[in-house]
Amino acid sequence: MQVKIGHSVLELVEGDITQQDTEALVNAANEQLRVGGGVDGAINRAGGPKIQEEAHKIGRCPTGQAVITTGGNLKARYVIHTVGPIYRDGHSGEPELLASAYRESLKIASAQGIKSLAFPSLSTGVYGYPVADAARVALGTVKDYLAQHPEIELVRFVLFGKPTFEAFAAALQEIG
Ligand code: ADP
Repeated sequence: MQVKIGHSVLELVEGDITQQDTEALVNAANEQLRVGGGVDGAINRAGGPKIQEEAHKIGRCPTGQAVITTGGNLKARYVIHTVGPIYRDGHSGEPELLASAYRESLKIASAQGIKSLAFPSLSTGVYGYPVADAARVALGTVKDYLAQHPEIELVRFVLFGKPTFEAFAAALQEIG
C-alpha cells in the first residue's frame, strides 16, 4: 500500500524490518541504548555487534530524540535509533513524544542525505502504546514532514504481523 506525498512515497508493508534495503532502518531503542527485545533485539542480531559498540559510545538518547550509527552487517547503511514513549494513560505527553521520535528520526535522515528509510511501529510493543492511536500519530507526522521535505524520497513502514499492518492501513485511509 502506497501513497504519494508531493514527490515522496509513503509505503506500508507487512514484514521484518531487518531485511529491508532502504538506506536506513529506524530502531525502537531505549534511553540507555542497550540492546533490548522486540525490534531492537532483531536489528542488533541481524546487524552484528558493531551497531551496539557505536551506540554504546554515544551513551544515551532521551525519549523523543534520535541518534545514528552505521548498519553493521545489515543491507541498510545506517540505523537511526529513536526512543518512543512508554504508554501510561495517553495524557502524559505520549502523542507529542511519539511524534517527536518520528520527526527527529526524519531530521537526522535529511541531515545525513539519506533518501529512503524504514520505520517499525514505535512504542506499540513492550512500550504498550495502543496501535490504532500510534498509527494515526505516526502517519500524520511522517506525512507532514514529507510535505515539507522532498529530499526524502521513500518512507516505508514495516509492520510486524497482520493486526499492526491493518491498523496502519486503516489509519492511512482515515487521514487520507
Ligand atoms: P517498543 O519498546 O518501542 O514498544 P518493540 O520492539 O517492543 O518496541 O515493538 C515495536 C514494534 O516492532 C511492535 O509492533 C513489534 O511487533 C515490532 N517488531 C518486532 N520485531 C520486528 C521486526 N523484526 N521488524 C519489524 N517490526 C518488528
